[in-house]
Amino acid sequence: MSREELLYEGKAKKIFSTEDPDQVRVEYKDDATAFNGEKQGQIPGKGELNNRISAFFFEYLGRKGIPHHFLGTLSPREQLVKHVTILPVEVVVRNRAAGSLASRLGLEEGRVFTRPVVEFYLKDDELGDPLINEDHIALLQLATGEQVTGMRETALRVNEHLSALMAEKGIILVDFKLEFGVNGGGELLLADEISPDTCRFWDRETDEKLDKDRFRRDLGHVEEAYREIWHRLGGEAHV
Ligand code: UDP
Repeated sequence: MSREELLYEGKAKKIFSTEDPDQVRVEYKDDATAFNGEKQGQIPGKGELNNRISAFFFEYLGRKGIPHHFLGTLSPREQLVKHVTILPVEVVVRNRAAGSLASRLGLEEGRVFTRPVVEFYLKDDELGDPLINEDHIALLQLATGEQVTGMRETALRVNEHLSALMAEKGIILVDFKLEFGVNGGGELLLADEISPDTCRFWDRETDEKLDKDRFRRDLGHVEEAYREIWHRLGGEAHV
């Protein structure tokens, strides 16, 4: 085996092995896809911005006591993370109606919820990532009951911390998607990425969308929106 082998290439990232079997290197790409791959494009600078934004969020959540996979930033586009087996379940938390929930339930975009809504989706491109519930997760043996409880509780804690952080920056956290992994010791860790690709961020004053919806809906200024998030988080001006 070569020292560094491409283990997996996804829509927005490549994962490489490292000399340490417990660690992998993640390379963030500028490629963007939406609507289950139907819409494809490039957002120049996205890889670098998401690498930095995701690192920032994981470090922040780590300080709040959330166990995660992130180890450190290696270069503008690369980070080192713990090698985990990703559970094939996407966990979505919503504070307001948007996207698929707004269309499925006929709710006006932006409607504020009195309590957050947690949803699970099956990670399966061929099936179009269908919405599933805890019984489906048990039926398909996607995760144990304990892991489902852990994912739900952690997702709600992440929501509290990220909502508060973003509120300080003048941004509404509308919704977001998380993925979890299990390491060799069986520990459940927050994994994947947290970025404007995986969250909906709206400017509190203007309601302007500062996330991937700009790409999904051809709103323009996509890169600027991602850069705005990085700057509001206190990122350096030259990135
Ligand atoms: N999301 C994601 N990856 C997916 C599906 C959704 O990161 O494969 C994020 C999305 O950016 C949003 C939240 O999860 O912040 C809820 O997405 P929704 O179910 O509304 O679906 P979408 O509108 O993205 O089709």
